[in-house]
Amino acid sequence: MSPMAKKRDYYEVLGVPRTASAKEVASAYRKLAIKYHPDSNQGDADAVEKFKACAEAYEVLNDPERRARYDQYGHAGVEDRHTQFNDVQDIFEAFSDIFGGGGGNGGGFFGDLFGGAGGRRQKRSRRGADIRVDVALDLEESARGVTKTVEFPRSQMCVKCNGTGNRAGAQRDVCRRCGGRGQVVQQAGILRVQTTCPTCGGSGSIVTDPCDECRGNGYTAGKVRLDIQIPRGIEDGMRVRLVGEGEPSPDGGPAGDCYCFVSVRKHRLFQRDGTNLILQVPISYSQAALGATVEVPTLEGPTNLDIPSGTQSGDVFRIGGRGMPEPRGGRTGDLLVQTFIEVPKKLSTKQRELLRQLADLEHVDVTPDRKSFLDKIRDYFAGPSDKASERLNDK
Ligand SMILES: [Zn+2]
Ligand SMILES: [Zn+2]
Repeated sequence: MSPMAKKRDYYEVLGVPRTASAKEVASAYRKLAIKYHPDSNQGDADAVEKFKACAEAYEVLNDPERRARYDQYGHAGVEDRHTQFNDVQDIFEAFSDIFGGGGGNGGGFFGDLFGGAGGRRQKRSRRGADIRVDVALDLEESARGVTKTVEFPRSQMCVKCNGTGNRAGAQRDVCRRCGGRGQVVQQAGILRVQTTCPTCGGSGSIVTDPCDECRGNGYTAGKVRLDIQIPRGIEDGMRVRLVGEGEPSPDGGPAGDCYCFVSVRKHRLFQRDGTNLILQVPISYSQAALGATVEVPTLEGPTNLDIPSGTQSGDVFRIGGRGMPEPRGGRTGDLLVQTFIEVPKKLSTKQRELLRQLADLEHVDVTPDRKSFLDKIRDYFAGPSDKASERLNDK
């Protein structure tokens, strides 16, 4: 239809008044769709046009918002989203709910006619199955991006029969179900719909003397090795899709895809948080109190970090650009260094002495020195003796 051609009024097309309820609109459409259905009007181009016009009218009038716009502005009000139906099956898919009666989802009336959700795909050619492979990476590999070689089983065309499934020189038999046409007509009520023959898959013939290599299915088990480019920044649980690297189609359609599921192993030091990395670094009480320059690891090697005096346990310092890159080529995150004050488990005599002086200065009570405690035990049991004192101290 040229853009200048005058379009018929949608209400007129469906034969309902402008005041018709949604139910009346649906019911009118259903009747007309069955009347003009192409399979019951073979070779009637006019019926196909009417069928499409009804679908278009219903598409607008069935949507309260679009119907309101149509009522106010006419065809111009709904032109922006005008749906172009390419073929009759598109119309069925768009309106399967009205025919289904059971609430859409490919079920019900049309679902049965087209063999469920896969019906449409089956009519064209079937796509091969998808394949899943798993790859585990180190955090370093995920940061830089890496190429991984994977090996997995995948069907390949049988070399012996060239994918035909026939024993060499054997003839194929005409498919009895469709009589060689490759299509079968299914009837539901007064609607007749043509679909691909499920027995022969549309080829019209079947294998009677199968190839002994592939047992007639045209494919044999194979194995492939693939190099998979894992982009930098990829996160645990993400997938890399390799288009067309899945199983081949059983009937000459496109191959499936290969999905590479990536897991990233836990790192000994760094914890990932989005594009940032978190690192916990121990510092001593004196470093925290006085300030220090400490060496911290990063994915690109060690770097120095200045800790100011008065740093508290749990304080976080940011080292810009030393995190993880964004998976889709964005900026790189930061390294967040979280300090914690590590208390020594063993002290030298000198350290103990100085800490006691510090405690005195701070007027805080500390546990009495173990030495004096032992001295008291010694006094209690045996009286002063250098030997006993040494023995106790060794313990
Ligand atoms: Zn074969
Ligand atoms: Zn057949």
